[in-house]
Amino acid sequence: MADTETNEAKVSIKLIVDKVKKRVMYAEADYTFVDILFSFMTLPLGTIVRALGKVADKELVALGSLTNLYQSLKDFPECYLSTEECKFLLLNPRSCFYNQCRGLKLKIDDTEPRQYFRCERCWSNDHSDHRFVFSTCSKARCISCGLLMNELHFWGTTVYVHGSVFVSHIATFIVTDDFTVIPYTAATSIRLLRDLGITDTSHLEERKLEIGCEQVKVHIFFFHMLTHTNALSSKDGALTLDSPLTYLVFNKNVRGFDADLGLVTAFDHFNIMKKETSSGMSLLLEVSLQKSTGKVLFAEAKEDFVEFLFGCLSIPLGTVIGTLMNGASSISCMDNLFKSISSMGVGRYLKSQDLKDNLLKPPFGQHYTSKHQLFPLTGTLINVPVRIGFKYLTFKDPRVDEIFLKQAGSFFVTDDLVITPSSSSLTLNILNKFKVPLDDIERYEISIGLEEGLRMLKASLRSRETLTNSLPHHLIKRSEL
Ligand SMILES: [Zn+2]
Repeated sequence: MADTETNEAKVSIKLIVDKVKKRVMYAEADYTFVDILFSFMTLPLGTIVRALGKVADKELVALGSLTNLYQSLKDFPECYLSTEECKFLLLNPRSCFYNQCRGLKLKIDDTEPRQYFRCERCWSNDHSDHRFVFSTCSKARCISCGLLMNELHFWGTTVYVHGSVFVSHIATFIVTDDFTVIPYTAATSIRLLRDLGITDTSHLEERKLEIGCEQVKVHIFFFHMLTHTNALSSKDGALTLDSPLTYLVFNKNVRGFDADLGLVTAFDHFNIMKKETSSGMSLLLEVSLQKSTGKVLFAEAKEDFVEFLFGCLSIPLGTVIGTLMNGASSISCMDNLFKSISSMGVGRYLKSQDLKDNLLKPPFGQHYTSKHQLFPLTGTLINVPVRIGFKYLTFKDPRVDEIFLKQAGSFFVTDDLVITPSSSSLTLNILNKFKVPLDDIERYEISIGLEEGLRMLKASLRSRETLTNSLPHHLIKRSEL
């Protein structure tokens, strides 16, 4: 089975390199590689963070502040959650293409296969034609008798897709150094070389490259998302690398540039969404700012804001880039992948319009959304009722009144999204850490709505100073009042 061999499995691509300039011009690949690239759109942010957490290279820090957010959820005291299953579900968000992607040659999604639980006692004591619930969490309790549910062993009829998942198994594709994917034709490759400034093809050579899972995670998919630890404290922001294939072969980056988080520039997209969403919900955040530097030291929030942040981990990457960021997430290689899918033809290249739509707007489970979701996203009811004999099983919603966290206490949020229940020692630790005199602190109450939420999500992908980078214009506005 694909499951057991994936760690050693490799996919093969053909590279056209300029041996003089030491640069990859483009790669030629079939469905095995392109399917893996496209599958990234279906992965929830939390799944990506978890996959990256297992990468051995400690020199590199993944995905801005999302790693801290994921770890905070992991460490979050269970007594604050509505039910014990809430944490399990939020930590293990599931791609809607999970089963199909199990057949990919490299398995990036390390989410465990689904297990099913139901209450055996209520099941066998009930002789009516009754609806029962199942859960996918081993900690789930029966809603009738309160006992722990038991695993349902005879389920498992998972069908893995063999062959290609998203694109035609006979097509060949060109993958550029910054991950634009286009169908291969001789004319396209010549145009591409000319655009790259190649006049003399004698400098070019073909190389074969075998890529394994670890390389895909670090060098291929995530290198550009990674921020070098040395650059984190620099004012210029994170060091980004936008030529993952060249980096993989020659260990150098072609166009390094300082991160433009796109946060100060116009952010029109939210205006469009604002018109579409009628909720107009906002969450309150009390921010403590260092006056002299403008840095957000920490923020205090109620459970609704924390729930909103934790909920972001369940949103698939394709939805973040497309629906929320309008194709400009600031992670340029992933934006290019998104655009490639969007302009790729159906039939000859992408297998169907349905697949294309689902890659550009991957559905995610309704039970991952909460009342405190600031974004205009609607979860899909993925779990249809399942019948065993004459009885039906429906999915047990872990939320209580569509909420994951109990209404309790206040929470402490650091600039890089470490979230913990509030305590005075945390405040003192931060003030000591940044050596901030008490008269250099200002407090603001900020209302976080759709625009601020989007800025925060965008900043969290790349920046370790998420709150500072996403809230400054608001802080300035308020201090002028
Ligand atoms: Zn029961």
